[in-house]
Amino acid sequence: SLSDRLTGALKDLRGKGRLSGADIDATCREIRLALLEADVALPVVRAFIEKIKVRAKGAEVSGALNPAQQVVKIVNEELVGILGGETRRLRFAKNPPTVIMLAGLQGSGKTTLAGKLAKWLTGQGHTPLLVACDLQRPGAVSQLQIVGERAGAAVYAPHPGTSIGGGENALGQSAADPVDIARQGIAEARAKQHDVVIVDTAGRLGIDEELMGQAAGIRDAVNPDEILFVLDAMTGQDAVQTAEAFRAGVGFTGVVLTKLDGDARGGAALSVREITGEPIMFASTGEKLEDFDVFHPDRMASRILGMGDVLSLIEQAEQVFDAKQAEATAQKIGSGQLTLEDFLEQMMAVRKMGPIGNLLGMLPGAGQMKDALANVDEKQLDRVQAIIRGMTPAERDDPKIINASRRLRIANGSGVKVSDVNQLVDRFFEARKMMAAMAGRMGMPGARANQR
Ligand code: GDP
Ligand code: MG
Repeated sequence: SLSDRLTGALKDLRGKGRLSGADIDATCREIRLALLEADVALPVVRAFIEKIKVRAKGAEVSGALNPAQQVVKIVNEELVGILGGETRRLRFAKNPPTVIMLAGLQGSGKTTLAGKLAKWLTGQGHTPLLVACDLQRPGAVSQLQIVGERAGAAVYAPHPGTSIGGGENALGQSAADPVDIARQGIAEARAKQHDVVIVDTAGRLGIDEELMGQAAGIRDAVNPDEILFVLDAMTGQDAVQTAEAFRAGVGFTGVVLTKLDGDARGGAALSVREITGEPIMFASTGEKLEDFDVFHPDRMASRILGMGDVLSLIEQAEQVFDAKQAEATAQKIGSGQLTLEDFLEQMMAVRKMGPIGNLLGMLPGAGQMKDALANVDEKQLDRVQAIIRGMTPAERDDPKIINASRRLRIANGSGVKVSDVNQLVDRFFEARKMMAAMAGRMGMPGARANQR
């Protein structure tokens, strides 16, 4: 499989430096295949790969990952970004009812989605009304009524006995027109105080002028706050053409992917997102009303890439690397060999996590230290950081060499007084001794047994 091929290609080339052109090209070739296998449209694949190459070229090789893994990580991040970059919630109207219109080919899952949305919205305290504007397909109205009942939502439909499909019926009643039903549905929602209206519409098997015209007519009659384009994830390469046709014919503000419970890799998601620029908002994963969720870009990205194994490998590798680094630091602490560089790194890592005072409270055995450091102010930490940055690597590595002339240079370079540098260096030596002693008492790895 692709995943195996890529795992096989993951040679151990970890190190310092930048990703090489050859590494990037080799991995991008595999990524390209993965995207095509997932049915992402060719122009979208091309543009995407170009973007990846540009970003990968400037990337540093991390200590944790080999170059191929690193490219895959970048690809995954970009995919998640594109799929979810502008993930947004449903837009609700300032003056209810909010009108949500569903559009899409026949069988794409509109009517099922109407029920799912109704149930989901009801769970959030809304009172949706379903409006049956598919008067094309026999049984479509009763299908929506059944779905509405299951979802516990009201349904507005033409009166039984009204003929469907144009002209007059045998009893001389005028035929129901989808645009009229849509309009009446909105009036009904106002009268009965439904705050959301979900308009189900007809679809055909293929793209069809008359049908588009009808959908556009409904759109103009109800002025929707959202038009959701419903797309079967199994559609494959035709997805782009279908989406383009609906965009031109009706327009839409969001996409819902259905039938994600099937084995489609879902490349349509990326194609439609890239080509129409509209966000994917929801995902349907089965026939039952509960098989429905807001769209999760990370799950979709991993599905499109088809490299779940590789992605979890990458995550593991990064975790192991972090753990190894932590252990190496612990070794140095225990043996009293901590450098100012290590100190700076640790400080940066800790600062990223929030105010230092809070963090110290979570460390075992740090009771006294916590009291001492509780009042450390962040400005002082900035100064410490500036001073260490002003040192050469050799000085950071072995602070013992920092003599008077070096202290003066460091102070000038980092805009502090010489006494500040003196204080930092002295405190560092004290802290290093104290930490080594503490590590010894706590039985940390690398601690010298005889250290007191
Ligand atoms: P519409 O013609 O667009 O209204 O599509 P329907 O809602 O009638 O759905 C067509 C068929 O697809 C029905 O048999 C549904 O049960 C089925 N369906 C809809 N959504 C999903 C889904 O997410 N997963 C699966 N497996 N089937 C679905
Ligand atoms: Mg339907």
